[in-house]
Amino acid sequence: MAEAEVAAFRRSVLRFAAAGTGLRDLPWRRTRDAWRVLVSETMLQQTQVSRVLGPYRAFLERFGDPAACAAASPGEVVRAWTGLGYNRRALNLHRAAVACTERHGGRVPGELEALRSLPGVGPYTARAVLAFAFEADVGVVDTNVARVLARALAGRPLRPAEAQDLADRLVPRGRSWLHNQAMLDLGARYCTARSPACDGCPVRRRCRWAAADGVPPDPATGSAGTSRPQSRFDGSDRQGRGRLVAALRKGPVAAAGLAATTGWPDDHGRARRVADGLVAEGLARWSGERTLVLP
Ligand code: SF4
Repeated sequence: MAEAEVAAFRRSVLRFAAAGTGLRDLPWRRTRDAWRVLVSETMLQQTQVSRVLGPYRAFLERFGDPAACAAASPGEVVRAWTGLGYNRRALNLHRAAVACTERHGGRVPGELEALRSLPGVGPYTARAVLAFAFEADVGVVDTNVARVLARALAGRPLRPAEAQDLADRLVPRGRSWLHNQAMLDLGARYCTARSPACDGCPVRRRCRWAAADGVPPDPATGSAGTSRPQSRFDGSDRQGRGRLVAALRKGPVAAAGLAATTGWPDDHGRARRVADGLVAEGLARWSGERTLVLP
């Protein structure tokens, strides 16, 4: 893509960010503390902003820095994850806090490789911490941004390296924080997965897909970083796992009660398999042979 085209799009994004109707006011946008940014980005993986707001505040009141989180048991951190789902993230955040205290003097590191080595921190989260805490000049590609890149800039599905390269090229030097937050909001507020609001979109004039009248196929479909349809939740193992962790937050669960707790009263084998899965991941442990508890 020509540099002039990239530069014009970059200017449109910054104009949108600077406008009074620009960015959403979110608590994690009022801080540059790397731990707070890491907590918010971990919670926002696969969970909507509206569901994160309450747990984010409560979690940080309890675990205000990596040392406080590392000093708690994994079970306490899983307990503080109430309402967010995907409880493995809580466990990874606890492990990341331990790594920060053991290897980085109690601080979240500010280098890509060191961030990537933290449990649960993938390419997106590492770059989000770099951009939003350290204001480093890197492009952040979540599912929202990935749609904008594919539809507006490329006009076709992108491979992972292409999406990251394009995102990096777009970043205005020294204004990475503002630019990346604006890209996230463009995707979340206008360039949505199912019904993009092209008429009111601030970058419409620079959008390749809109210029082609949004003719199918959607360039975002199958493009790197865009979300895939999730498998059905009702009746899934994930639902049973969630029920079991919710019960464990309140107290121990006897082996004999696993089937009822997971919601499969007639399928003890499935319930036991799910419980053993939680134990293997470190999300639960057996106390004695017949009682499951948080770690
Ligand atoms: S004009 Fe439409 S397709 Fe293009 S970036 Fe905006 S919302 Fe997305």
